[in-house]
Amino acid sequence: MPIRILADEVASQIAAGEVVERPASVVKELMENSLDAGSQRIELRVVNAGKDLVEVSDDGCGIPAEELRLAVARHATSKLNSAEDLFRIETLGFRGEALASIASVSRLTLISREKNAEIGKKIVVEGGKLIASESVGIPVGTLVRVENLFFNVPARLKFLKSDLTEKNQIVQLVSRYTLAYPQVRFRLVQDDKEVLHSHGRNNRREVLAQVYGSDLAKQMLEVELEDEDIHIAGFISPVGVSRSNRREITFFVNGRWVQDAGLSTALIQAYHTLLMVGRYPIAMLFVEIPPDLVDVNVHPAKAEVRFRDADRVFRAVQRAVKRALLAYSPAPQLNTPNWQSSTFDSVVDPAWGMAHDGDVAQPAIEPGEPAGQINQQPVHLPTDSLPLLRVIGQVGAAYLVAEGPDGLYLIDQHAAHERVLFEKFMREAGKEIPSQALLHPQTFDLPPQAASVLQSQLEVLNRWGFEVEYFGGNAFRVRRIPAILSGMDPIAAVRALVEDFEEDETPLQTEIEARVIARVCKRAAVKAGQILSGEEQAALVRDLERCQSPRTCPHGRPTMIHLSVDLLERQFGRRGSR
Ligand code: ADP
Ligand code: MG
Repeated sequence: MPIRILADEVASQIAAGEVVERPASVVKELMENSLDAGSQRIELRVVNAGKDLVEVSDDGCGIPAEELRLAVARHATSKLNSAEDLFRIETLGFRGEALASIASVSRLTLISREKNAEIGKKIVVEGGKLIASESVGIPVGTLVRVENLFFNVPARLKFLKSDLTEKNQIVQLVSRYTLAYPQVRFRLVQDDKEVLHSHGRNNRREVLAQVYGSDLAKQMLEVELEDEDIHIAGFISPVGVSRSNRREITFFVNGRWVQDAGLSTALIQAYHTLLMVGRYPIAMLFVEIPPDLVDVNVHPAKAEVRFRDADRVFRAVQRAVKRALLAYSPAPQLNTPNWQSSTFDSVVDPAWGMAHDGDVAQPAIEPGEPAGQINQQPVHLPTDSLPLLRVIGQVGAAYLVAEGPDGLYLIDQHAAHERVLFEKFMREAGKEIPSQALLHPQTFDLPPQAASVLQSQLEVLNRWGFEVEYFGGNAFRVRRIPAILSGMDPIAAVRALVEDFEEDETPLQTEIEARVIARVCKRAAVKAGQILSGEEQAALVRDLERCQSPRTCPHGRPTMIHLSVDLLERQFGRRGSR
């Protein structure tokens, strides 16, 4: 094919691809425009995960009627004059391509009234073409309505994740901005449901509670550091609260949300050995730095920045975080059990009754657990069964040593117990799962995205021995938990499950069930470090012998190492070593 200049329409769709990847990108660009316009109030309405409608209205400075058409043209901006301006950008936008890009892949209505104008104006652009223009009466400010996103690029639509995921992206995005701009009043309505509302009273702690729930707000530590011209503020989680991924680490640099691996690493390093391997803090940190010390023009969606002196910024972040962690001395926590007397049939072998550690302040988490891979027991026979084993003893309070007709077995007590519980649970499928009522139902709240995830999975949870109900807003109430979790913190158990649900973007329902069960079993299983009596050791091995897949835990890790007689003989030079 000969080289040709692309048609305008194609070129703008390609450009749009960089800016508008998904509905949340539209929300981000429109919200940023409203912030640049000095708005005090920003209202967002989203329908059908943003595919049908994203509407953002503000009370900002507005756009002059005669410039409306220009606002949706490519490379048209009021925020930049010359190339030098690029190095002192104080606005979120500067490329003048967001509205044009969005307009090329949707039907975009732009209505605006400038501060001193008598009347407002409205234009409608579809697939980049102007289809209507008229005067309208509206209050000062701007309203942008984006309908039928990607109607002319069906491939984009196909690449979108599930509605739940796209919706969560939007809630997470707006939540972050709400916290970054505590002086602005945000309201987000998704499918006619208000999912987020901040008061704009310029109080970050208050926003944290409004948006992320009062539980988290109470726990988070405040960060504040002034280092010459660098200012760092925000919140970080205390040592006892962590996540299995970095997704809840948020940095804003000069009011701009950036995903910067260097900043995250600086933060994580500041926790040093305080967190277990594979665990990450929750953090929302806001870095302010003179604009000429940071290049914001290095990423198509402006999600990355480059610092002139990155090390200095990283050091400041570390100092700020360490100082906040040090200033906080944890109060000892008493775990008072509030259980009704046990009148239920436990699924746990009575010999195990005392084997649980009731303390879940620091749940035992194994590093590197493969998310989303739950090894379900095979339905086919013959099974991978074990021979009868004779228990010899326990090593390092973590492994059992046993002897069988074919050699020596080293058994990981935690993994083995997980497997035993998992199969017991699976056998109960369809039957009533033994569960235990809490003496006092406990209420807790979650960040909005986690709340919507939990809401969508309540039924599954309740099928497996929980009784968790939606309590309005982002709050839930736990009334019962599976009997095998008795004595443990019910809220921590539910939270751990929600974290699992969030791990995977579009888990299959069957996988979710298996994961709920695997997670419950993991919590209930004896931990490494627990000394087991001879009776308990024997009971565990007996139960394991009865399992269909005794050799792996529900997450697919081995439960045992087998040293065959043959191997032992070879290793000791008794046979076949020539
Ligand atoms: P950029 O933000 O990079 O300038 P955009 O395409 O997002 O580019 O917006 C183009 C122009 O439209 C902006 O420079 C601004 O002048 C105007 N504009 C867009 N949204 C708003 C708004 N909500 N309030 C006031 N002006 C706006
Ligand atoms: Mg913009």
